[in-house]
Amino acid sequence: MHWRTKLIQAEPKSTDGFRSLTTPTYRGSTVVFDSHTQLTDDWHEAQLGYTYGLYGTPTTRELAARIADLEGAFHTFIVSGGQAAIALIYLAFCNAGSHVLLPWNAYGPSKDLSEGLLSRLNIQVERYDPLIGSGISALIRPETSLIWCESPGSITMEIQDLPAIVAAAHARNVPVALDNTYSAGVLLDAFSFGVDVSMQALTKYVGGHSDLFLGSVSAGNEAAFERLGPIHRQLGMASSPDDASLALRGLQTMGVRLEALERSTLAVAEWLTHRLEVATVLHPAFPSCPGHDLWKRDFTGSASIFSIVFQPAYTPAQVNAFVDALSLFKIGYSWGGVTSLALPYPSLDRPGNPVQGRIVRFNIGLEHVEDLIEDLTGAFATLQ
Ligand SMILES: *Cc1c(COP(=O)(O)O)cnc(C)c1O
Repeated sequence: MHWRTKLIQAEPKSTDGFRSLTTPTYRGSTVVFDSHTQLTDDWHEAQLGYTYGLYGTPTTRELAARIADLEGAFHTFIVSGGQAAIALIYLAFCNAGSHVLLPWNAYGPSKDLSEGLLSRLNIQVERYDPLIGSGISALIRPETSLIWCESPGSITMEIQDLPAIVAAAHARNVPVALDNTYSAGVLLDAFSFGVDVSMQALTKYVGGHSDLFLGSVSAGNEAAFERLGPIHRQLGMASSPDDASLALRGLQTMGVRLEALERSTLAVAEWLTHRLEVATVLHPAFPSCPGHDLWKRDFTGSASIFSIVFQPAYTPAQVNAFVDALSLFKIGYSWGGVTSLALPYPSLDRPGNPVQGRIVRFNIGLEHVEDLIEDLTGAFATLQ
């Protein structure tokens, strides 16, 4: 063969016999078949074997299987990010004319999707009070095809009564999807409460280092699996094996990271309860957090995000100035990494908006707690 052909047609020479302790990064779009009789293009890769890189390589399949195992899922799909996971769930369970229930405190871009693309497709998304519990029955219509839960909710941290909502939904044959990002799939046993689908932004705790985008969509049962699979394929929701490899590495240290983050976060949140500037600390492990009793009942621990509400005397400009005065706490979206973050929410979207302009959401990282408290002390001092 000419060397040009050799460059392209080389048979693999080094693949056999190497058993790494970790999962190698398999990149690939084309999957090679031995003969045309074996050709198949089917998203049921877990049952049929590999057919096309879109559905996963050994690296992404390993990550999916690990997440499914941790969450106790029937099957997990890996997608390119948490928002992609949310989109996949909407599009798998809704038709034109469908009605969806979404809590007020859901992750913001989920609302953008419902008011944007989904509204163009005549899918109507109605917001509900996250603390509604079994009262959700009254909102369910014949055309309701999906109920979303997110617990704790974004920014305002309310804990939902999942068993009550699931019971009401299933009584009317409506599937329930949970944004389970906060729990990292381990602090809340979502499927034990009967939810049909649990999704995570793996970008957060599984990735754990603010350097990748991935999402997981875990089906609790075969019916949900068969709804999700075809839409995952039709939308071409491929994900990066390189990012999956980083997520597999993230899983190895997630246990110690979560433990350290929980401890530091509780210490910082506790310290904040004694500050006169702070009206409320919204951390699920504190009685001041709406739904705290449900958190005690349903969760096995807490994570690294929580919010504070400043006293009404403080103006939004002062709250923003407080955030700007922090130096170890960086200002930025996303969370679950090793760096502490602070974000003000001057235009928080909540009915009545009682905390508008006075709320700051923190992500606590792996810095030393005393340094974080010193940083907060300095920022509070600038408000005098
Ligand atoms: C970050 C986040 C998402 C979206 O994840 P991305 O990977 O950033 O797209 C979804 N839900 C919650 C609760 C989040 O915090």
